[in-house]
Amino acid sequence: MTNAITIEHVNKVYDGKVTALKDVSFNVEEGEVFGLVGPDGAGKSTLFNILTTLLLPDSGKISLLGMDVINEYKSVRQIIGYLPGVFSLYPDLSVEENLQFFAVMYKSSIEENMELIRPIWKQISPFSDRKAGKLSGGMKQKLALCCALIHCPKILFLDEPTTGVDPVSRKEFWDILKSIRTQGITVVVSTPYMDEATRCDRIAMIQEGQILGINTPSAFIRDFQGKLYTFRSENIFSLLNIMERCPLRCNYYPYGEHCHIAFYDDVATALPQFEQFLQEQGQSHGEIIAIDPSVEDCFIEIVQMRNALNQPQP
Ligand code: ADP
Repeated sequence: MTNAITIEHVNKVYDGKVTALKDVSFNVEEGEVFGLVGPDGAGKSTLFNILTTLLLPDSGKISLLGMDVINEYKSVRQIIGYLPGVFSLYPDLSVEENLQFFAVMYKSSIEENMELIRPIWKQISPFSDRKAGKLSGGMKQKLALCCALIHCPKILFLDEPTTGVDPVSRKEFWDILKSIRTQGITVVVSTPYMDEATRCDRIAMIQEGQILGINTPSAFIRDFQGKLYTFRSENIFSLLNIMERCPLRCNYYPYGEHCHIAFYDDVATALPQFEQFLQEQGQSHGEIIAIDPSVEDCFIEIVQMRNALNQPQP
């Protein structure tokens, strides 16, 4: 496999005080769907802006298909497509006019690359006369994707493309990304939604500007260290309060309407001890059930372990 993207020791600090990226290094292979997963403020957009030649790093080296993003930025711009996190089309132009505009800007034409966008275009073409600003969130993103693809880029960057998009459109959008991959286009996509991460070939977990780990979603799940359980609690807030007193080696957190708990001791003894602890604390709860971890559970575990390592020793 050859690398489509090589990132070496990239750092970025805003205004001399906000560290957005700290010594970021990784490679993306050609033809991969590569995910950048992390919460708001993790540094995802900063990295995207640097990768797409819109922002200079303070230090480090990045090459896209062998081209340096700083010294060869003009050539780099020819081979990338970018769907930024904020809606960036022209709201007063129609759907078709927007697409036309982006095609002409890249000295291409809609006809030339129609094959590439046909499955997505089929869904939005019934609205081709509608102003882009009047489309639904999901449709806007599909149009933005068409515009980012219309010059047939070799690498496509998508910054949180499904944020604020309804669940059905989110699923459709990911189906489209998978089909783009089969055209040999490398896709780099960021998302705060951990469930979407499982649809990537590999993911980089990022927090506070640092890469916490890079692997396939299934490898992250395989490497989960704890034994994970879920249960319902009648009062999740009082539960979280009493958990501070829990004597077991465990990691707990609310997960939707449930609480997840990962045990790091022998679970045959830890589980009954935990049930006894809840009883003593007067906490009523539903059945405590063993579950497989999700990518989100893995992310939380990795963050907790890192925090524990960084704690000063007593
Ligand atoms: P994400 O895309 O993961 O939400 P960002 O890259 O937008 O993260 O932000 C990373 C950090 O840099 C955050 O602390 C954010 O507040 C800060 N930041 C982003 N852009 C700027 C900017 N233009 N000026 C100052 N700080 C910024």
